Amino acid sequence: MDSEVVVIGGGPAGAICALGLARRGIAVTLVERARFPRTKVCGEYINAGALRLLDEVGLGEGVRERSVPLGGIRLVPPGLEPLELDFSAPARSLPRADLDAFVLDSARAAGAVVVQARAEDLLFDAGRVVGAVVRDPAGERREVRARYVVGADGSGSLVARKLGLVLQVDCDADRLVADARAAIARIQGGMAVIARQLWSSVCPERALPSDDPAGTRALITTVLEHIGRDHGTATSLSSDAQATLAGIKAFIVAHRIVQLPEPDHLQVVTMPEFQRGNTVADLSAAPPLDAEATSIYAISPPPQGWDAERVEGFLAEYNRRMLQMLSIHEAYPGHHLQLTRANRLPSLVRKVLGSGVYMEGWAVYCEQMMLDQGYGEGDCALRLVHLKYDLRSAANAILDHDLHCTAMDDAQALHLLMDEAYQTRGEALLKIRRAQQGSCQLSTYFVGQHAFADLRRAVQCRQGERFDLLRFHEALIAHGAVPIRYLPELVQQDLGDG
Ligand SMILES: Cc1cc2nc3c(=O)[nH]c(=O)nc-3n(C[C@H](O)[C@H](O)[C@H](O)COP(=O)(O)OP(=O)(O)OC[C@H]3O[C@@H](n4cnc5c(N)ncnc54)[C@H](O)[C@@H]3O)c2cc1C
Repeated sequence: MDSEVVVIGGGPAGAICALGLARRGIAVTLVERARFPRTKVCGEYINAGALRLLDEVGLGEGVRERSVPLGGIRLVPPGLEPLELDFSAPARSLPRADLDAFVLDSARAAGAVVVQARAEDLLFDAGRVVGAVVRDPAGERREVRARYVVGADGSGSLVARKLGLVLQVDCDADRLVADARAAIARIQGGMAVIARQLWSSVCPERALPSDDPAGTRALITTVLEHIGRDHGTATSLSSDAQATLAGIKAFIVAHRIVQLPEPDHLQVVTMPEFQRGNTVADLSAAPPLDAEATSIYAISPPPQGWDAERVEGFLAEYNRRMLQMLSIHEAYPGHHLQLTRANRLPSLVRKVLGSGVYMEGWAVYCEQMMLDQGYGEGDCALRLVHLKYDLRSAANAILDHDLHCTAMDDAQALHLLMDEAYQTRGEALLKIRRAQQGSCQLSTYFVGQHAFADLRRAVQCRQGERFDLLRFHEALIAHGAVPIRYLPELVQQDLGDG
């Protein structure tokens, strides 16, 4: 064994971890792929909380010596008055190259062995991680063995991926992508059937397009364009959203879907100008430690300064039916309801920590579940819009995988999102940028949605006629956003069956 602990990644998290271990006399090796000082995409802002933590580990003084004080912030939005805000507590500014080098040098001075190499794989022994396989800058591969491995290798963490820590499901990447591709084909088939049904009311004068791929695409695109014309105006969006939420809540109560939060604090506001233009609706959930705080459901009118054509495109994309799907996902029974219920749990851990797969999975599961229970009174156009929304979840998972793990380029990504998932070019470009900035998050929607659907199928099979949707949903959300692999057992206990 080379060390007691090997830490992968020498950013602030890994270096401070190695520093603490070395000071306690524990043999620690830190593996960092970059040669320090290295730059990193990051601001230079160290807030008061970060300074407090640096003080706690004895690095505060050194950071103050190297940095400059910050008293506030000045926002300069194009075409608008600058906005100046004072910080309520002292903050500092230091380039990351300097901060990270200082922290890593401190770990080295305390006795940590710093190795410049890239961790390429984890070493397993009888199912337990016992080190990492690393490659040094000369291309030499070797094993670093240790009793414990700490993954501090940043947002695209190899360690988290290898251990399934991000998605927390027993499913490998190849299976996930194959399932997502199969889902795309299935959903497109469903869209074609519904679009065919709507065709005569949408284009009574025109012959039904031919039953080949190009004809089917034209059919779906034309019907979606027609549905897009039924949208609110820039000034009516907020009141449209209020009315939509009232209808959804009434449906949830009347159809015994799930208990609404009581008391329920959700405020609909007009989105501030600087946030506008990406989506029509966005939820800022109440913070987990303030159970009675208000969630903000922000509705975005088109940004000022857009020309008429761009405004029309935005309103058509976020048409009346799409607003209903978004409201189900973001508010009821989706994120707002689930997070508000979680905030009221007695467990501090379950209030504060939440699995992204659970949270997005629940919200996406709710979209189809609501329609299946009769929301929308059988409106075929609403079902078609839902399927378009559903395509996004499968396309997100493929994009997430293929951009990071295959040679997919931007043109292929655009083809997937626009041609296969019926997204506009603007939406697709934003999604590609988001996919490039991180990994695994975009897969959470698809993985979570299917975990919830599979669990429901299993419980319904087990319970048959005894199955009660309200009880099932209550069992799903009673525990907070737990990692999805533990949900079947918890639900089974709550329902008292097995
Ligand atoms: C655009 C942007 C702006 C930000 N601005 C601020 C800001 O102003 N203030 C602030 O406090 N935070 C800011 N953040 C957040 C901040 O960057 C992160 O919270 C912080 O870097 C996390 O530290 P870390 O040690 O966990 O990861 P990182 O700093 O990412 O360090 C991970 C390290 O692991 C190494 N590594 C990765 N893979 C391997 C591998 N396979 N083998 C070996 N080594 C590996 C990397 O080279 C890297 O040095 C910003 C983030 C972004 C994206």
